[in-house]
Amino acid sequence: MKIFISVDMEGLWGVTSSLQIRRGNTDYERTRKLMTEEVNIVVRALFEEGVSEVLINDSHASMDNVLIEELDERVSLISGNQKPLSMMQGISQDFDGVIFIGYHPRALTEKGIFDHTYSGLSIHNVMINGKPLGEFGLNARLAGYYSVPVIFASGDNVFCQQVIEEAGNIETLTVKNTISRYSAESIPKKALISGYRKGIKKALISRGMLIKEKTPMICRIAFKESVMMEDVLWLEGIKKLNHHEIEFEAEDYEKLYRKFLAVLKLAR
Ligand SMILES: [Zn+2]
Repeated sequence: MKIFISVDMEGLWGVTSSLQIRRGNTDYERTRKLMTEEVNIVVRALFEEGVSEVLINDSHASMDNVLIEELDERVSLISGNQKPLSMMQGISQDFDGVIFIGYHPRALTEKGIFDHTYSGLSIHNVMINGKPLGEFGLNARLAGYYSVPVIFASGDNVFCQQVIEEAGNIETLTVKNTISRYSAESIPKKALISGYRKGIKKALISRGMLIKEKTPMICRIAFKESVMMEDVLWLEGIKKLNHHEIEFEAEDYEKLYRKFLAVLKLAR
């Protein structure tokens, strides 16, 4: 069995402050260790349950946070941020399941640690076919396009609730309970390890959920400021809805996802 893991940083165990997730801060170096350790906990649980291959895609900011020298020696790692499929680089129909670790609530969420959707600077919110989606929901649908089910996700309690809203009843692990956008109570480390063990076991038995978006697909994006969409309007097929919102239609989800990433690049 082959498993694909996309790992972000904001939703990891013990992470609550912006000093922890930005390169250049001393705390960031600690967070990279925490990130690598949390990935290793998940990977060990997967191999214990008979998984044969694991690919990790580093999905936070510059996407080169995971310390490969401390990573479980049985897994492969994609790092670097010039990736055509961004947080989902490496996904293909060869996988039997997708896992999201360290994910965070979508933009406009109350009391969610670091709530945002792809860009905290430019994106106000994103809707697919009228439904607000965060990074989890957007990425889960790309896995669905490749016919790979989402089997497990982890993050704060608010994020885990959004997994149900954006996809359905998928196995999750709440690694911290939020108090505000920048504070949370992390569960004991012992519970983190046993939670992953139990959750991964269940996830591999249930085989998760295939999340497919229905056609036609309309992607609607609201920007934080009207100036941010000026360059986006250069792209073909972009419809301006009002002073800060656009939408576009796509015939399949992969095309939608790629266009969404192009919009992100142009939004500034
Ligand atoms: Zn991130």
